[in-house]
Amino acid sequence: MSLHGDYDAQNIFAQIIRGEAPCYTLYEDEDVLAFLDVFPQSFGHTLVIPKRAAARNILDIDAASLAKVMAVVQRLTRVLIDELEPAGVQVAQFNGAPAGQTVFHLHMHIVPRFEGEKLSVHAGGKASAEELAALQARLLQRIAG
Ligand code: 5GP
Repeated sequence: MSLHGDYDAQNIFAQIIRGEAPCYTLYEDEDVLAFLDVFPQSFGHTLVIPKRAAARNILDIDAASLAKVMAVVQRLTRVLIDELEPAGVQVAQFNGAPAGQTVFHLHMHIVPRFEGEKLSVHAGGKASAEELAALQARLLQRIAG
């Protein structure tokens, strides 16, 4: 499956939205869900997805729903900067397998970048549950504060 095709309701992010698969949630409202990437490319790698749109990529979503996703991207980028103090932040989104997309439910990546640290392999090594849970708690505390 790539740039064009049918939405697969069994993709992992659809399962997460339905509560059928676990995730380390950072933010949720009726339209948007944000959670930690379990194969992080950097410390704090976060994903933000639309909950209601069955959108494989940026072509499939209406502008109003996309704007709601982006508002959360901006908010969480600020949280990640405040809490983790990276030197920079990448916001990225891939459309189609040749562009690097591996999960076919639209998602925005927020990838904090730290001085002198290269990115880990995309969708590579899995972070430990302990590390992810500790980071989630830290970021939730920052969001609440
Ligand atoms: P894409 O390559 O489609 O732009 O990004 C998919 C992202 O989803 C990758 O960064 C990958 O690490 C992440 N990912 C894949 N499976 C899971 C999962 O089960 N849970 C979480 N939280 N992230 C996942």
